[in-house]
Amino acid sequence: MNPLDLARPEIRTLKPYSSARSEGGTGAVLLNANESPWPPCANGRAWNRYPEPQPAALVARLAGLYRVPAPCVLVGRGSDEGIDLLVRAFCAAGRDAILLLPPTFGMYAVSAGIQGARVIEAPPRPDFSIPVQAVLAACTPGVKLVFACAPNNPTGTGIPRATLLELAGALRDRALLVVDEAYIEFADPDGGCRSVSDCVARFPNLVVLRTLSKAWALAGVRIGTLIADPRVAALLRKLLPAYPLPRPSVDAALQLLSAAGERAMHARCARIRNERARLRAGLAALGCVRRVLPTQANFIAVRFEDAGTAFAALLADGVVVRDLRRYPRLGDALRITIGTPAENDCVLTALRALHGASLRPARAEQPA
Ligand SMILES: *Cc1c(COP(=O)(O)O)cnc(C)c1O
Repeated sequence: MNPLDLARPEIRTLKPYSSARSEGGTGAVLLNANESPWPPCANGRAWNRYPEPQPAALVARLAGLYRVPAPCVLVGRGSDEGIDLLVRAFCAAGRDAILLLPPTFGMYAVSAGIQGARVIEAPPRPDFSIPVQAVLAACTPGVKLVFACAPNNPTGTGIPRATLLELAGALRDRALLVVDEAYIEFADPDGGCRSVSDCVARFPNLVVLRTLSKAWALAGVRIGTLIADPRVAALLRKLLPAYPLPRPSVDAALQLLSAAGERAMHARCARIRNERARLRAGLAALGCVRRVLPTQANFIAVRFEDAGTAFAALLADGVVVRDLRRYPRLGDALRITIGTPAENDCVLTALRALHGASLRPARAEQPA
């Protein structure tokens, strides 16, 4: 199957903007893009020049990192841009739809809303695992994109690689399966939740989103990677702005994506996993905690006896966490990102104090 058969016809035939940089031509005297001939300052290097639309060195490095051929790679401003491009290219306003498994990452529905695409929901099982048959049943003909967040934000639930590949195979000819792997580096190495990026050659309808924002500690640099069949990647490249990637961001990413940078990334992930285990144990021992959800990510979703009071107690100590009470089936939950050991201790201290405080008035009410 050609995955472009699922795309909007007008996008398939769209002629993209042709920038001075992409029309190219090599020469020492660059007078084709109305740039300043002088850099802005001594250390401004080549900031006076427009950047490459898809910098070859960065594409090559990311392709190597994710072990895929370079034509499968599209580099954007975070994986949020990949989500937006997919919805715009594949969903016609007022007609097509995306399918989600709520509770999940909010950007999928926002991008669909901006595009005027419908959002269809398939409920996960009570343990937040994916019921493949129910997802397929909900995947009506208008559905062009099925989003699976693995591990899922905000629950932390991992999705076994076998489940994702089963879904990709069953959706072939029907819809693209978009696997958002923003947190995959934090998954337990022996837990069965591994990346599926190596499978895009086998499944032309599989799209994988990776980002430097989480494990690589580069959220401020805004670099995300979309990995897909080369035809899908080429279609989406047509929709990118002429110069999407700022040169300082590309320079920073190339500097950090060294072998030493990769070792540091793995070391950070190992520390996060250690702290995750310690924080889970500490939270589970607290009287105000109902349940700590299993997690494969760098955050923990926690059910509280009274989530509002827990949120306020943390905030009073200056600890800002994410309130999940508006999400379906998480009406008693908060999401806590794993921080440094000292920051995680702040969480436990604030919640232990809350436990003590909730006992004191009860005692005071006892007749003397
Ligand atoms: C943080 C996050 C992203 C990454 O977004 P960027 O735009 O790459 O910073 C993508 N998906 C999910 C589920 C996330 O939580």
